[in-house]
Amino acid sequence: TPLGEARLPEPRIAPQIALTADHHLDIEGVTKNFGHQQVLKGINLSVGRGATTAIVGPSGSGKTTLLRLIAGFERPDTGRILMDGREVAGETWVPAHKRNIGYVAQDGALFPHLSVGQNVAFGLDRDRFRGRKAVTERVVDLLDMVALDGSYLKRRPHELSGGQQQRIALARAMACEPDVMLLDEPFSALDAGLRVATRRAIGKVLHDAQVTTILVTHDQAEALSFADQVAVMRGGKLAQIGNPFVVYTRPADRATAEFLGDAV
Ligand code: ADP
Repeated sequence: TPLGEARLPEPRIAPQIALTADHHLDIEGVTKNFGHQQVLKGINLSVGRGATTAIVGPSGSGKTTLLRLIAGFERPDTGRILMDGREVAGETWVPAHKRNIGYVAQDGALFPHLSVGQNVAFGLDRDRFRGRKAVTERVVDLLDMVALDGSYLKRRPHELSGGQQQRIALARAMACEPDVMLLDEPFSALDAGLRVATRRAIGKVLHDAQVTTILVTHDQAEALSFADQVAVMRGGKLAQIGNPFVVYTRPADRATAEFLGDAV
């Protein structure tokens, strides 16, 4: 079915406010090769502080690689990445643990040998949260954010559903109070009802805390409800960047229209 304008929700934040705010993240001419394959072919992307960007695009188009470069898990071959105008990759290199970036992968990847409480507490700043009581209170607050309660504290990841594990992974990432949150299909393992509820809860948490967020997703509703700007990736390039309403109603070219149309 053609994408009717009537079913598109209004963008959550007026895009001109979110996008012209001070640049938080700038990606300039980034390329990345794996062996002979050029996976990223010159990516340029700017993200305003507190804004949320959804990256959509076919499997294999380089979305995860781009997130891993921003996180500092990989180095670009050419180009550079800046945070707050400071170069973190390019001529200079700031390692992942010094970028204050949260990263949640599709499978959450909890520490299997630690309890839920220990997993979430892992990222807490122990200078600020001293002693068992303060730590537990903060962990319970973080669990509450993702709609879980204190009864989960002592449980182990393997006793929980995929959806519960994923929400705990999000709470653990929030415990570090990141400036930037990178979410790689974080809700795709959840069943439909939980997916919407969790997306809303996490969206609110990130928005209230003004965390600059980049979300990789294949779910159009998610991109529309979550993002201030949508970036469409194809074959290692950004085919289109714009506010969700514009991208979905006026795709830049036929291939983008077909991709977005197929995803409906
Ligand atoms: P997407 O997230 O859009 O599905 P990816 O960034 O995961 O795309 O992958 C883009 C391309 O890069 C794929 O062809 C993938 O096989 C390749 N690739 C990703 N990571 C590596 C790696 N560590 N080594 C070799 N090839 C990789």
